[in-house]
Amino acid sequence: KANRKFHPDDSILEIAGNMVGGKELTIIAGPCSVESEEQILNVAREVQAAGATFLRGGAFKPRTSPYAFQGMGLEGLDLLKIAKRKTGLPIVTEIMDVAYLDRFIEDVDIIQVGARNMQNFALLKQLSHCNKAVMIKRGLSSTLEELLMAAEYVMAGGNNRVILCERGIRTFETATRNTLDLSAVPMLKKMTHLPVIIDPSHATGQWWMVEPMAKAAVAAGADGIMVEVHPNPPAALCDGAQSITPEKFTELMRKVDAIARIE
Ligand code: PEP
Ligand code: MN
Repeated sequence: KANRKFHPDDSILEIAGNMVGGKELTIIAGPCSVESEEQILNVAREVQAAGATFLRGGAFKPRTSPYAFQGMGLEGLDLLKIAKRKTGLPIVTEIMDVAYLDRFIEDVDIIQVGARNMQNFALLKQLSHCNKAVMIKRGLSSTLEELLMAAEYVMAGGNNRVILCERGIRTFETATRNTLDLSAVPMLKKMTHLPVIIDPSHATGQWWMVEPMAKAAVAAGADGIMVEVHPNPPAALCDGAQSITPEKFTELMRKVDAIARIE
């Protein structure tokens, strides 16, 4: 179902009034994690003013260490809902546990499957039975074929509303957090009709590399980007080093827009 061979036309998904996969770039921006009502509302207003089309924010966080901040959980989901109600921005957030699926279906516009859960087949099967948009992030060491098979799990159960996200992969290089596989954009476009989003924040791990990689992603033909934005990156509870300020995000949007206009 994900194979381009049998579906030559690009998939364009209508999500909360936004077209994902069409001519318009999809811009998902917001903090790594929801930290407070003030934080998420501030970021939501700032990224919306800059032109973002979706608000991101983690409520359930997949942290490497069990002692690291795990996210605000359902309280974080409630705060995202408040931000959505006050700004109108649709929300993207990660699901970790199928136990909360009903809440996610009710409140979330794009359900994110994180890199670490890309091959959580039980989770993918559950998501296949709903009609919510699902964004699947490429596993840390997964091939594009494996990423497409994860999409296939969701589509096989009847949910065709799938978005793919390249967020960097594990290589021998340690200077960057991950290695952004930009060639995944044209290759995925050849292999599948599904929209492709690039996450330059997790791909690089460093805030000053987010803009050049975001520009490169758009130039390479990505359908959109997902960027971590925090009002005070050094104080962020998660991923501050790769988060940009709302001011830098505004600048990035201007530059990315100019590139998107080039044919
Ligand atoms: C995220 O986007 O918040 C995240 C945890 O990313 P990844 O699953 O790609 O590590
Ligand atoms: Mn993060």
